[in-house]
Amino acid sequence: MSWNRFFATAFVAVSILTISTGSFAQNIGKAKAERLEARIKALGEFGKNDDGGVDRVAYSDADKAGRTHIIAELEALNLDVRIDAAANIIARRNGSNNTLKPILFGSHIDSVPGGGNYDGPTGVMAAIEAIQLLNEAGHTTQHPLELVIFSNEEGGLVGSLAMTGKLKPDALNVVNASGRSIGDGTNFIGGNTDNLASAQVAPGTHEAFIELHIEQGGFLDQESLDIGVVEGIVGIGWWDVTIEGYANHGGTTQMNNRRDAMVSAAELTLAINKIANDLPGRQVATVGRIQAFPGAPNVIPGRVVMSLEIRDLEQEKIDQVYAAVEQAAKAIAAKNTTPIGFEYLDVASEPAPTDPRMRKIIENATQKMGYTYKHMPSGAGHDAQDMVHLAPTGMIFVPSVGGVSHSPNEFTTPEAMAKGTDVLVHTILAIDDGALNN
Ligand SMILES: [Zn+2]
Repeated sequence: MSWNRFFATAFVAVSILTISTGSFAQNIGKAKAERLEARIKALGEFGKNDDGGVDRVAYSDADKAGRTHIIAELEALNLDVRIDAAANIIARRNGSNNTLKPILFGSHIDSVPGGGNYDGPTGVMAAIEAIQLLNEAGHTTQHPLELVIFSNEEGGLVGSLAMTGKLKPDALNVVNASGRSIGDGTNFIGGNTDNLASAQVAPGTHEAFIELHIEQGGFLDQESLDIGVVEGIVGIGWWDVTIEGYANHGGTTQMNNRRDAMVSAAELTLAINKIANDLPGRQVATVGRIQAFPGAPNVIPGRVVMSLEIRDLEQEKIDQVYAAVEQAAKAIAAKNTTPIGFEYLDVASEPAPTDPRMRKIIENATQKMGYTYKHMPSGAGHDAQDMVHLAPTGMIFVPSVGGVSHSPNEFTTPEAMAKGTDVLVHTILAIDDGALNN
């Protein structure tokens, strides 16, 4: 072999090597902040309210119109758009090997009543921008890509729940602020409740699921960080706590002769706060509602009903906090002769940890871009908590200015959205290169 020939061969070999390890990724441009902002503003016209936010509640006319607007954007990017039976919008971009599992990413565009422009749309616009960047670079991934816009996120994660097959049939009768029931509303925006089972996705259908979302809290903003690598969505436990005392005259009953349910409720509330504070970890516990009976200024409360909520990323921690609360309640009940009972409410959701490999991939993508980040839990619910049951799932948080959300004042800067989008793009590319199997 001549030296020339050797160099030529070596050059070809090196080229092939770089291509196969994703050299095309280098050609992908950075996300364009102004484009993200323009798309957020354009969608914000649908359901726009006088406060500068949106009332784009799922199944409303504004929701339907907003979806039509977004579908046109997706089609303009040459994506194949379909709407599944649960009214999720799914836009597909073929890969070079369509026998591979699709990489799924997206979020939602419905809002709470009196909501803002960023909760949901930020993740959808980031996903659209990601596709546009790939289109502009002429880069075809090996895996097909699927962009998803889940239906009715704010009203109970309806679209993603339907994908898991866990949407309860009686949920279809629940009417939301649009005035339509979940069933009628699903059909109104393009779904088909007669065929809801067809929206179900078997676990392992997708290579991965990634959701970019605004943090909705203030940690990233306070610490001036670019990205939150989400460790998972916290689980929530709810209980009704009933304290039995003895209702009696507030003027004639001596202080040492009372069974005051409110006094026990106060002691228990303080105990709950102390327990959640003292245990190591990030668990939170809240008494957010309290009612005294009969509820008159001159009557010692004979009964108090109050709420208990405990949240954490680990079910064991929720159980541990609850056990300590129960223990404290026993002592208070005995001391004050006020029996305390706990009723567990079946509205709780289990903790949904993200896939550790996905966290690492997102972290690597963030480092590659030179952005700052921290690992953090999500205290709010997201479609990703359903998707953890279907595919390796990861979540990318971008900062919410002032930690404000579910408000017209909700804001995320265009630059912050762009940084998040860059991380999303490079996460997709890493997964496409097989990062989940490394
Ligand atoms: Zn959201």
